[in-house]
Amino acid sequence: MTKKKAISSRKLTSEDADQLHDISGVNVYACYQCGNCSASCPAVEFMDIPPHLVIRLAQLGFIDELIEAETPWICAACITCTVKCPRGVDIAKVMEGLRQIVLRRDFEHINIREIDKKLREKLPQIALIGNFRKTIL
Ligand code: SF4
Ligand code: SF4
Repeated sequence: MTKKKAISSRKLTSEDADQLHDISGVNVYACYQCGNCSASCPAVEFMDIPPHLVIRLAQLGFIDELIEAETPWICAACITCTVKCPRGVDIAKVMEGLRQIVLRRDFEHINIREIDKKLREKLPQIALIGNFRKTIL
């Protein structure tokens, strides 16, 4: 069961919408809300915003709501939604774009020097790399 999500009435376009387009390369305006993406998504029941509504909110410029959502982090990047979309909308790339926006905003979120040396030696390298996987625009 998908959880309900409150949406604010803030501005309908933003620089973040442009950034999402620049990062993902996806034209979200091609979507006509058929719902195939959500119907085929194996993780939809765990998401707070189903994939077709992610695309609708992206069309409307509600990017802040999307990057605060759990959905992009629940997405398993399996691309089932992308394959099923009759309009060629690459929803999986939109999810990745949203994750990238969050990661780029939190550039100073983790400082390697603040991680205990003993813990740092024990942590799997991929955990550290995952936290530093950011690019400045
Ligand atoms: S499958 Fe494609 S056209 Fe249908 S709702 Fe999802 S993104 Fe939109
Ligand atoms: S890529 Fe993500 S949103 Fe698309 S079907 Fe897979 S888990 Fe769902």
